[in-house]
Amino acid sequence: MEVRCHKCGRAYSSIIPPSCICGEGLEITYDYSKVDVKKWRMRNRGVWRYKELLPEVKKIVSLNEGGSPLFKAKLSKELGLEVFIKDETRNPTGSFKDRFATVAVSYGLPFAENGFIVASDGNSAASLAAYAARANKEAFVVIPRRVDKGKLIQMIAFGAKIIRYGESVDEAIPYAKELAKLNGLYDVTSASNLIGIEGQKTLAFELWEELKPTHILVPTGSGSNIYSIYKGFKELLEIGAVEEIPKLIAVQTEKCSPIASEILNIKGKKEFTKALALYVKDPLNKEKAVRAVKESGGTAVLVREEELDMGERLLTKEGVFAEYASAVVVPALLKLKEENYFEKDDKIALVITGSGLKSFYEEKERSIMTGTKLEILRLLRDKPSYGYEIWENISKPMKYQAVYQHIKELESLGLIKEAYKRGRRIYYTLTGKGARILENLEE
Ligand SMILES: *Cc1c(COP(=O)(O)O)cnc(C)c1O
Ligand SMILES: [Zn+2]
Repeated sequence: MEVRCHKCGRAYSSIIPPSCICGEGLEITYDYSKVDVKKWRMRNRGVWRYKELLPEVKKIVSLNEGGSPLFKAKLSKELGLEVFIKDETRNPTGSFKDRFATVAVSYGLPFAENGFIVASDGNSAASLAAYAARANKEAFVVIPRRVDKGKLIQMIAFGAKIIRYGESVDEAIPYAKELAKLNGLYDVTSASNLIGIEGQKTLAFELWEELKPTHILVPTGSGSNIYSIYKGFKELLEIGAVEEIPKLIAVQTEKCSPIASEILNIKGKKEFTKALALYVKDPLNKEKAVRAVKESGGTAVLVREEELDMGERLLTKEGVFAEYASAVVVPALLKLKEENYFEKDDKIALVITGSGLKSFYEEKERSIMTGTKLEILRLLRDKPSYGYEIWENISKPMKYQAVYQHIKELESLGLIKEAYKRGRRIYYTLTGKGARILENLEE
């Protein structure tokens, strides 16, 4: 492995900081003439199958990450396209960040006497926590105020030291860097260290082996994943395995689109999005990501917040439960299809980056708390009430059965509960959680 500036050609011995004195980002390169892809096929699936194009390490810290399933989407038929799902939710901790963590922790081990640190909006932190635990090292994770509960539970379960800092991951990055310096921790944040990219790029190698896609839709937050995939294909180009890089399509939400809007040359927003893993306001990998998309001849798509639930639902019909940040690729695909962007023989890969099982935040509960459900919560805040009475007080004319269904759903969400019975009447009241959510909604 060599570290070079692709602009001025200077060579470096370290990947921290990840930039050249000329200001350009550094890149890790290898002796591409020595790579024989036939050897790959004889090895087990997974990130380390491609070891000639990974940094040399003394000891591999692995949980058998990568080698995720690829299968054809049922959507293909409806759309008249060849669409494939690359299911990264099946990685050890439930996201593609495990590809990053196995390489970052294995490589960083000799430098991590006091432990590892990462700035993350959730999945990288959950992943680092698991891999550091396996390596008997401490993991420090700097996470913003809003983090999905399931990811937080993973961090806690794996014993990570949790530091809450900032409103989005943007503020957490420089803070993690500072903590790393002060405490002698090895910082694996992809904005501060190139190493994780090397692991993430193996997704490109797998897609090449399994599919040879013409287009890849990638949910994009910091831009590290789409850049990694680009780097993987660039290396396949170097070793003569491909003649062309597939068209890379960066997908972001309209609410927060620093990379996509630059690609599309429009004015973008940097607001909160419920696709939490895509809430990166000033991605430090922006230039690299934009260059990757442009060089590949790809494009970018913006998705509205209201489309995220539809994306999630369509994926569940495929048997895949993804978080919003991954589900963005579905509305993006539909939009491109609408615009006749694809040709008949194109092979389109959707990168489903992370599992829906861990992404529960009150935002999500709020998003289903509309209309009738909200009205029921309001009624019950004033006084306990029973089904028939609630039905009579709902402003919109609807069947009793429908109101009853809402009541049951609110009960199963733990937002209302039985207060007491009078005769056959069951009186419901708000739970603490229900009161809190109602209060939040009315802020
Ligand atoms: C990290 C993450 C992303 C965004 O990837 P970037 O490399 O930051 O662009 C998308 N989806 C999920 C589930 C993630 O965890
Ligand atoms: Zn340089």
